[in-house]
Amino acid sequence: MTDVFGDLVGQDEAVATLRRAAASAAALLRAAAPVAAHAGAPAGAGDPEGHDGLDALAEEFDEPGADGPVAPPAADPGAGMTHAWIFTGPPGSGRSVAARAFAAALQCVHGTGCGRCPGCHTTLAGTHADVRLVVPEGLSIGVGEMRALVLRAASTPSGGRWQVVIIEDADRLTEAAGNALLKAVEEPPPRTVFLLCAPSTHPDDVSVTIRSRCRVVPLRQPHAGAVAEVLVRRDGIAPDVAEWAAAAAQGHVGRARRLARDPEARQRRDAVLAVPRRLTGVGAAFDAASALIEAAEAEAAASVAEADEAERAALQTALGAGGTGRGAAGAMRGAAGQLKDLEKRQKSRATRAQRDALDRALVDLAGFYRDALTMALRAPVAPVHTDTAALAGAGAQKWEAEGALRRLEAVLECRAAIEANVKPRIAVEAMMLSLWRG
Ligand SMILES: [Zn+2]
Repeated sequence: MTDVFGDLVGQDEAVATLRRAAASAAALLRAAAPVAAHAGAPAGAGDPEGHDGLDALAEEFDEPGADGPVAPPAADPGAGMTHAWIFTGPPGSGRSVAARAFAAALQCVHGTGCGRCPGCHTTLAGTHADVRLVVPEGLSIGVGEMRALVLRAASTPSGGRWQVVIIEDADRLTEAAGNALLKAVEEPPPRTVFLLCAPSTHPDDVSVTIRSRCRVVPLRQPHAGAVAEVLVRRDGIAPDVAEWAAAAAQGHVGRARRLARDPEARQRRDAVLAVPRRLTGVGAAFDAASALIEAAEAEAAASVAEADEAERAALQTALGAGGTGRGAAGAMRGAAGQLKDLEKRQKSRATRAQRDALDRALVDLAGFYRDALTMALRAPVAPVHTDTAALAGAGAQKWEAEGALRRLEAVLECRAAIEANVKPRIAVEAMMLSLWRG
């Protein structure tokens, strides 16, 4: 039997942090109960630094005699509860899974995330009255909606526990919406908790000011064995396929599932892993670079096409409803801005999808040279790509450890260069030439 953290694959450290926080949160609620009964003033009143509300509660909670069996050790600063959290991690590590599980644990009647009580159930099913999920896509989360959300989140939780707001892809908020959120995070209502999900805490993803108000829960790349286990248990995939896909996906849960289920994803991967064999000359190296870039573009285009179309249709419906009455001119002016905003978002999403696709291809390629390296060193580790193990073995013989390492480094340098905003085509061409020369 698993609790709400059961689907969080290979994240023991983060789960431990969240369990402690949930226990602290439950203890805070217990400690607050008698206070709330006789206090007419809002929490934090009379305390010049009481913007947090929790601080005052936490002090009471730390007093001797208040310790319950689930009390965190006072010496551990990471144990406590706080109003704002950011879940970061590489794609596929389970940021939103973690946020939902934590929300369930906060609403759990036992305060643990048991997975069986109504609080846990309704949160995971998306029907809990005090849990709001925001998925900023296209036009759906502008500043007006964010303000309304923040306002609603400030109300007293109907279930008597916490108001939880989960913001997936917090890196995709508009600037204005981000500012509205910041205000709420800076002066949080006493019972409101914000859970943000973002790729990293880089200022491109989350503004420095929001970041400074949040506790960060970093998620890591899960172990292949843990990924295979969840594919079998949750998705019903055959164990041998699950093991192959988990190893080939190198810790990306969603990618492992796609590889196990989608023949096209497998074909794209095969094409990438054919690169080492094809590098027979300068011309071939440039051809391979083009093929890699174009495959990434095609994959990205396929992945965003559906969302783009749905957003365009939604916007057209909204604009079509404008009519000709009073206020129509104003609505049209607003429409132009909305259309521009949508196009900008879709373009940045496409660029990002291309980068993600290319990066996945480079990770696959790095896995191949890593296999060659470990074989040349006779290291007792399983290959990443079992289906190209023979080819990697041939490479190991021909290049020896040093040559395999140089090639692995060429792939990793290419990734780093693209991360540092070198034009992808230039970085990939340079990499292919290095791989060919060896
Ligand atoms: Zn529960």
